[in-house]
Amino acid sequence: MIKHLTQWLVISTVVLVLTACGNEKLPVVHLHGDTMGTTYNVKYVVKEKQQAVEGLQSKIDTRLQRINALMSTYDPESELSRFNQNRFTKPFAVSAETRKVVTEALRLSQLSEGALDITVGPLVNLWGFGPNKRPEKVPSDEQIAQVSEYVGAQKLRVTEQGLQKAHPQVYVDLSTIAKGYGVDEIAAILEKHDIHDYLVEIGGEMRVKGQRGDGSGWLIAIEKPVSSERAVQKILSVGTNAIATSGDYRNYYEQDGVRYSHLIDPRTGKPITHNLVAVTVVDPSSMTADGLATALNVMGWDAAKALAEEQDLAVLLIRHHDGEFEEYLSAAFEETVEIKN
Ligand code: FAD
Repeated sequence: MIKHLTQWLVISTVVLVLTACGNEKLPVVHLHGDTMGTTYNVKYVVKEKQQAVEGLQSKIDTRLQRINALMSTYDPESELSRFNQNRFTKPFAVSAETRKVVTEALRLSQLSEGALDITVGPLVNLWGFGPNKRPEKVPSDEQIAQVSEYVGAQKLRVTEQGLQKAHPQVYVDLSTIAKGYGVDEIAAILEKHDIHDYLVEIGGEMRVKGQRGDGSGWLIAIEKPVSSERAVQKILSVGTNAIATSGDYRNYYEQDGVRYSHLIDPRTGKPITHNLVAVTVVDPSSMTADGLATALNVMGWDAAKALAEEQDLAVLLIRHHDGEFEEYLSAAFEETVEIKN
């Protein structure tokens, strides 16, 4: 049972956020809205001698609308959609923001030996997890092989002015990392307005800094990786960091008794089938945490553990093993994160 009854519980994709009720000493402003096919929440503490910032929500909305207009694969007019529709292999000019996100995604792709791969979009769409609707039948091996012709991070390059495809049908999907980028961009807006005690969340990707209204640290609950209920696995205090969780128990479908996850292994062209069910990553950058969580999830238990140890990543893995959940907390996770339950 959670001690502080919560005044505000955000149940996002996989992370609940708790704030203490009632004993807030300082006023807390809560802004929320829709973005990227999901929702966002911003909470910040108004310190003594400070005022709530006029017009802050419209600045946040404007920034999120721009990120959407650059990086959405759900808006056919977005910068990324226009790059995806373009069938040339010469450089295509894109914004510095898109180049920044693609550069980080390609770095994480290399780090994960191709497990994270933003050119996986055609396979995501083939399996029905993108803007297209779900297929009547699961894709055949021939369809997968045909689409895989133009999948592979090595077929995408960042140039001085933009992006360049090595195959005319390369199609980039930034769903796994651009929400985290949006969180970092909102945090930057708050910092610019001299706000240093806040929580920012978009579709479950989160970043916190400083304290809540009652002077204690932000508490973040990680959900039990089950699709049948909403229950808490762990309650964490992560200091000033971002936290992202990737799991396959919220976004999947079943067909003929087989469960298909929204996480696609680019090396097989198929949804992951291993027993690693949830990955939580803590990192100063929400964009990095967001991408890494998917990368480690696609890699599977053993490879994810090895990479976390080799790269000193703050990682919590949960797998289904012998009928129960088994956890792995990396050394960096144990050092960085305070576990409250
Ligand atoms: P994560 O676990 O963070 O990432 C999984 C997603 O990444 C998958 O859904 C797939 O798209 C992709 N992926 C799967 N496997 C891999 C892999 N191996 N490597 C790299 N990527 C992989 N959704 C809507 O329904 N409507 C919208 O209008 C909409 N607009 C969006 C606009 C933007 C700018 C962005 C970034 C996303 C938008 N989305 C929209 C998608 C939605 O916000 C989520 O990104 C999506 O539901 C997955 O969220 P998640 O946290 O579950 O995914």
